[in-house]
Amino acid sequence: MNEEKFTRETVLSVRRWSDTLFSFTLTRPAHFRFSAGQFARIGIEVDGEKIFRAYSVVSSPFAEELEFFSIVVPDGAFTSRLQHLKAGDQLLLEKIPFGFLTLARYQKPLPQDLWLLATGTGLAPFLSMLQDFAPWQQYQQIILAYSVRMPEELAYAEEIKTIAQTFGEGGASFKFLPIVTRPVVPPSDTTLAQRLPTLIENGLLEQHAGLALNPATSHVMLCGNPQMVEDTRNALKARGLTMNRRGEGNIAVENYW
Ligand SMILES: Cc1cc2nc3c(=O)[nH]c(=O)nc-3n(C[C@H](O)[C@H](O)[C@H](O)COP(=O)(O)OP(=O)(O)OC[C@H]3O[C@@H](n4cnc5c(N)ncnc54)[C@H](O)[C@@H]3O)c2cc1C
Repeated sequence: MNEEKFTRETVLSVRRWSDTLFSFTLTRPAHFRFSAGQFARIGIEVDGEKIFRAYSVVSSPFAEELEFFSIVVPDGAFTSRLQHLKAGDQLLLEKIPFGFLTLARYQKPLPQDLWLLATGTGLAPFLSMLQDFAPWQQYQQIILAYSVRMPEELAYAEEIKTIAQTFGEGGASFKFLPIVTRPVVPPSDTTLAQRLPTLIENGLLEQHAGLALNPATSHVMLCGNPQMVEDTRNALKARGLTMNRRGEGNIAVENYW
């Protein structure tokens, strides 16, 4: 890639959630402006070659640093190296952010109920949106459902509560629904343990949210595993919701691979 297209940024901190999940923060250059929900292209240099990957920005559009949330794919060209990252290292950051998984894409129906449905690191763009004041003011209800396989993969669970208190005060009502699909202990009444499409089909997602999915009022964003995205999209379509195109419709999606 042309040297003019990226800058070199310094790693400020690294936080490890589990063997396969970590977050890191980078210096944010003044020119790097993004909308909540967009992604950056981050690069590493290996033997003189540059490898870039897409990464949704976790941090608030107002934050001084840029935060990202990463999987470790053991034999992945990028993350098998990135997992050894430490403060003081340098990463390449493409100057321009990308992506259309932003709330600005919704024009009709008007904002009322916002459903943010993620698997794994697909949580990242939603964390950024929740650290923006606009959605809390625009929507009446916000539901965040976050599905992982194992309990130790529920990264950011505590931070989500703090974010809702900080940014949501006086705004939309908020429900956080963590989902663990392979729980080691049998699920209790309050723990959701099935995949998102199943939870839509059997009505449990709406029951736990205390809110109905409704083509006239729901904006639904899906992010993460492409199989989840496809199956959930189909479950939503079966309920009468439509893909958002040219501003109109309920469902917006982003696949991570
Ligand atoms: C728009 C967009 C935004 C993205 N944002 C993020 C992000 O915020 N955080 C993040 O970790 N990744 C994100 N990704 C995926 C990321 O770009 C890379 O795929 C990931 O870093 C792995 O790179 P790799 O070279 O190690 O493996 P790759 O060769 O890129 O992927 C190998 C395989 O690993 C699996 N895989 C890839 N990414 C993930 C993942 N995130 N979770 C679980 N399994 C995965 C898939 O099976 C994939 O086929 C995003 C992708 C896109 C298209």
